[in-house]
Amino acid sequence: MSENSTDTPRAVIVGAGPSGFYAADQLLNLGFEVDVLDALPTPFGLVRAGVAPDHPKIKAVTRVYEKTARKDGFRFFGGVVLGRDVTRAELLERYHAVVYALGTSDDNRLGIPGEDRPGVHGATQFVSWYNGHPDASDHAYDLTCERAVVIGNGNVAIDVARMLVLHPDELAPTDTADHAIEAFRDSNIKEVVLLGRRGPAQAAFTNPELRELIDLQRAGVVVDATDLELDEHSAAWLENEADITSKKNVEILSAYAASGPRESSHKIVLRFLRSPVEILGEGEDGPVTGVRVVRNEIVKNDDGSLRAVATGDEEVIEAGLVLRSIGYRGKPVDDVPFDERRGLIRNTGGRVSAETGDAHAGEYVVGWIKRGPSGVIGTNKKDSADTTVKIGEDRDAGRLNTPTINDHDAIAAFYAERAPDSVTWAGWEAIDAHERTSGEPHGRPRVKLVRLADLVERSRATNAS
Ligand code: NAP
Repeated sequence: MSENSTDTPRAVIVGAGPSGFYAADQLLNLGFEVDVLDALPTPFGLVRAGVAPDHPKIKAVTRVYEKTARKDGFRFFGGVVLGRDVTRAELLERYHAVVYALGTSDDNRLGIPGEDRPGVHGATQFVSWYNGHPDASDHAYDLTCERAVVIGNGNVAIDVARMLVLHPDELAPTDTADHAIEAFRDSNIKEVVLLGRRGPAQAAFTNPELRELIDLQRAGVVVDATDLELDEHSAAWLENEADITSKKNVEILSAYAASGPRESSHKIVLRFLRSPVEILGEGEDGPVTGVRVVRNEIVKNDDGSLRAVATGDEEVIEAGLVLRSIGYRGKPVDDVPFDERRGLIRNTGGRVSAETGDAHAGEYVVGWIKRGPSGVIGTNKKDSADTTVKIGEDRDAGRLNTPTINDHDAIAAFYAERAPDSVTWAGWEAIDAHERTSGEPHGRPRVKLVRLADLVERSRATNAS
């Protein structure tokens, strides 16, 4: 199959995470040939580098993506970076549809004094580090202190809090990167304080994530009952408007408060209505020693939403590690239209658009870089479908991009030339087999290769064997 029929539409998906894979599957079903690019030699995005390693069941979703990859018309080019190895214009020369599935890789900042002190980190980086993302594998975290503060009340915050107190026996059977297993084993951290700027009713945790804290082997959960006393706005909201998740969260937290912390060497302390106002430390820019926080109260906005407002009542929480987990934002890539304010690719319902709202022919977006970092993995299936339906409509209406280079094999050669270390699906399968085999004797799902050079070398073993 060298010269491809120009009748067969071709799509490239930039990003091999969940939204990229759902879009790939849907486009294959619509009769497209689909090339998936990823900056890393490995596929699966946040399923590999984001989902907490002690949640192996969530990671099992990759079996669905593997099925997609086995379909005719699918190709993978790992280690090809848009904006470094190839440009947006070069993709448009080669495909009828370009789909950006880049995710949101930057973490939001607090914008408070002391945020850049040593010992203050974005959760994004920390999560990448314990998951063996090659860009984060050389990072180092000082875990010699006894207390860490995690700012934010979402599932990422709860993931990192849990990882910090897992017993080595709980970590051992996971695919946590070896460097992180070693660091967690030597860690001195006994207490993790999770800070929510609003109240328990507004926490963004989902119920299973909050509930499973009870099962931690060596960490008790501390919730102060006075923190759970609902103000009038939250009480009315919970009664009349809240979804079942928020109601259940309050119930779970009340049960934690009522039972009190069990006897344990470690603890996770959930505190609400507290915002950090300054990260304290040694000298002007020395390591973190604590967080100055202000107590908030909940007020109602004109539109009915509830927000936290500082009371002026402050306290200091001593800590030697602070992790900021207050949401992600996307990064602009090449000259793809970007909405700086929202941190997303500018789009109208999945069609990449100019500031005027006019669609750019043949360019689309799916996942977090389209709608923002919300929802669970499965949310992306419907999100991708909302976009791929439009790609189908645009094909039927003759509104796709018109590529000038239509040779299937030449496109593969183009990637190989631009990114000589790029990895095909067979290369990823060689990496995967090696990692799984390395994990097997230790009862682990895999031992991750965490350096680019090792990943590329292992992918090449497919040719030798
Ligand atoms: P998230 O759910 O949006 O939570 C962000 C948290 O940060 C909220 O509690 C928010 O409080 C708080 N926040 C924002 N700005 C703040 C500030 N300036 N000061 C203090 N707090 C601030 O985001 P996430 O935890 O990064 O998770 C992203 C998505 O991935 C979510 O949909 C999540 O459910 C999903 N996820 C799922 C799993 C799982 O299923 N196990 C695991 C990880 C992530 P406000 O509500 O007051 O804004």
